[in-house]
Amino acid sequence: MYDMLKNLVEADAISGYEESVRKIMVKELKKYTNEVKVDKVGNVIARKGKGSPKIMLAAHMDKIGLIVKYVNKEGFVMFDKIGGWDDRILATAKVMIHGSKGPVLGVIGMKPIHMQDREESKKSLKAKEMFIDIGAKSEADVKKAGISIGDFITMQGEVQKLMGTRVTGQGFDDRIGCLTLIETAKRLKNFKGTVYFVGTVKEEMGLIGIRSSTFSVNPDVVLALDTNIAGDMPGMKPEDSPVKLSSGPTLDIKDAISVIDPAVKKWVKETAKKAKVKLQYIVMEGSATDASITPTVREGVPSGALTVPSRYVHTPVEVADMKDIENCVKLCVNLVGSANKYF
Ligand SMILES: [Zn+2]
Repeated sequence: MYDMLKNLVEADAISGYEESVRKIMVKELKKYTNEVKVDKVGNVIARKGKGSPKIMLAAHMDKIGLIVKYVNKEGFVMFDKIGGWDDRILATAKVMIHGSKGPVLGVIGMKPIHMQDREESKKSLKAKEMFIDIGAKSEADVKKAGISIGDFITMQGEVQKLMGTRVTGQGFDDRIGCLTLIETAKRLKNFKGTVYFVGTVKEEMGLIGIRSSTFSVNPDVVLALDTNIAGDMPGMKPEDSPVKLSSGPTLDIKDAISVIDPAVKKWVKETAKKAKVKLQYIVMEGSATDASITPTVREGVPSGALTVPSRYVHTPVEVADMKDIENCVKLCVNLVGSANKYF
């Protein structure tokens, strides 16, 4: 699974530019399902089995990134954010700008400490004040490199192994969900009904792809597969997030815009117990997932989010545990198997 995670995470695809991840998803899901389609906005919809119930497992293919906003005369590239970045971590990052002539490496520069006055060194820079240096000497150089307004920009953050089964990388949110989809499709054998494996677009821009895909699939239930906010690190209290790394997949009970459907909660809780998969729970003040919005699609589709613990979410150094992914896959396979008793 590690190699597939590396493939998925390092695919250069952000919200609205999901092509490279979509290619992997289509290729892999074709091996394990009966039919794979890509809809008009780019959602990948794979079907396995037939009849009722109709279960939809969804993971978003996009991740947060940046976009070229303006190129100045001196050849510095100004950018806007796509998705929820903490501005403070953008300064001094290495990025790739995806122009018409292929990816171009750039760095987000800043004024050195030597030249900052007292006030400056105390305040953190805003993304609006930042710029990308690709080594160009002029606007014409940038143009020559194939870069223009609207090109998408990705953050560098290759997947690497830490101690034990823990790994780090940028964009575990939500390539871990994509990996869980593929692995579940691969291992799924005995179940009743139809399973749809859906890779959604533009989740980070406002839960976009989940609406159209839920509408077209018209399932009985949606389970969104995503990552969550682990709280086991210095500076965070258990009451902020009781979720711990390496302690199993997590059921999101509440987020900023929705609360889990009671039937889904029962289904996941009881199935986890039977399958002997340790389940964690999280109540979130902020954030949302693809599951938050499906109750508003058609007549309302019940949903919940099953998430894998991750530290430092939305930074280039997210940390997760392969064991948590493994247990999430195990639970998903069991959930599909038991779904006909609940929906
Ligand atoms: Zn996510």
